[in-house]
Amino acid sequence: MKIINPATGTLLREIPETNATEIKAKLDRAVLSQSAWKKTSMEERLKCIKNFHELLDKEREILARDLTLEVGKPIQESINELSGARNRIRFFLEQTEATLAENPVRTDGGMQEIITHDPLGVIANISAWNYPYLVGVNVFIPALLAGNGVLYKPSEFATLTGLHIERLLHEAGIPKELFTAVIGGAQAGEELLNLPLQGYFFTGSYKTGRLIAEKVSSKLVPVGLELGGKDPLYVTDEVLDLKKTANSVAEGCFYNNGQSCCAVERVYVHARVYDEFIQHLRGETLALRAGNPMDRGFQQGSLTRPSQIEFLESQIEDAVKKGAKVLVGGKRIPGPGAFFEPTLLIDVNHDMAVMREESFGPIIGVMKVNHDEEAIRLMNDTDYGLTAAVYSFNTERAKSILSKVDSGTAYVNCCDRVSPYLPWAGRKNSGLGATLSTLGILAFTRPRGWHIRG
Ligand code: NAD
Repeated sequence: MKIINPATGTLLREIPETNATEIKAKLDRAVLSQSAWKKTSMEERLKCIKNFHELLDKEREILARDLTLEVGKPIQESINELSGARNRIRFFLEQTEATLAENPVRTDGGMQEIITHDPLGVIANISAWNYPYLVGVNVFIPALLAGNGVLYKPSEFATLTGLHIERLLHEAGIPKELFTAVIGGAQAGEELLNLPLQGYFFTGSYKTGRLIAEKVSSKLVPVGLELGGKDPLYVTDEVLDLKKTANSVAEGCFYNNGQSCCAVERVYVHARVYDEFIQHLRGETLALRAGNPMDRGFQQGSLTRPSQIEFLESQIEDAVKKGAKVLVGGKRIPGPGAFFEPTLLIDVNHDMAVMREESFGPIIGVMKVNHDEEAIRLMNDTDYGLTAAVYSFNTERAKSILSKVDSGTAYVNCCDRVSPYLPWAGRKNSGLGATLSTLGILAFTRPRGWHIRG
């Protein structure tokens, strides 16, 4: 497999893919290793993950550099991602022991009733490239702490990072056969679906997630899906500082070049503040410069998949044909790398693909609305349900609007944010199950109910 730097088009490395026979052998060895690991103490497991947490910091520079080289995000964003991943790991270090502790729920006469949690076994973690550390640790850290083995398939666009993760977990004390990387693309992923794993935890597109859920359904094992979004944001007429709001919205739209599952993908603005808000958002968008992601002078790096450029162009072409106006950007940036101008579209509507299909790139459509009911109807007019945001100093109004929008995450005066203390749970085509929070620890276990008379 060729690892290409998307910012330059140059070859970084060639790495052999894991073939079907090797994947099967990895599973056999992981099953043996897991039967020993599940008997280890929580203290020992926590010690390994603590070591991993420290190693991520110790090797921060080299990990951030390789992440930027293979996915094209600005070097500062790679450093931020590593800090974010360590923050999530700290949450799991703090919370796992108590969450999985034996829980005596009731004593009824001579009967004691207790809940305990067993690991699932060996699970598959099929991962995405946009935040490989963040979406990875959501799965493999609680899975390992709960006593599972993991066959981890990093995205083919984040293989160097996947190999770093494998190496550092082993250095941290996680047994070599308990956690192993499966290298490759769709074919390697499909091999995992054919094997008898005890759970499938996937982060990626709706299309692949649905296919995985269908293919493994007859196994009757847990399936967790963290999928895409078309996340809406509504600026009401109760905002004190429209410039500050525009700055926050622009960050939500364009951070990581819009390649975030929870990136703001559509903006609705109350007619009373529309004109002023658009001027501020235009200024914010114009201020962003795309260029060499290793150079700290640029806020935007390159797209990770060069093929996404044609997709963005087709969304813009469709929108313009149907009456949209390109206020900022709209074009690919010439050169060897996969760069695209941060793009702001106005006069958009829901007949346009850009307001309905996940863009996963630096483009945003902004639409004027006359009242909250119209905003709610449009925010719900999507097959996705990951996050939704409302900006208003009237918190009750914002909460009331968001309670009518079908999304797993609701943001008031903020957006594009994840907390390890809260569940990350997409609705509709955005996913199934939850990662993070204590729910995202329990997801890697099977409950057992004990009835003890004695
Ligand atoms: P993708 O679906 O193309 O690939 C994801 C993973 O699935 C990769 O490892 C890939 O090799 C593997 N894969 C592809 N085809 C497969 C098959 N037939 N069988 C088994 N495995 C297969 O997605 P992507 O491009 O890596 O990620 C982008 C998508 O992920 C976006 O839609 C984004 O919104 C979503 N995402 C969601 C979250 C979340 O938390 N909800 C987080 C990050 C990304």
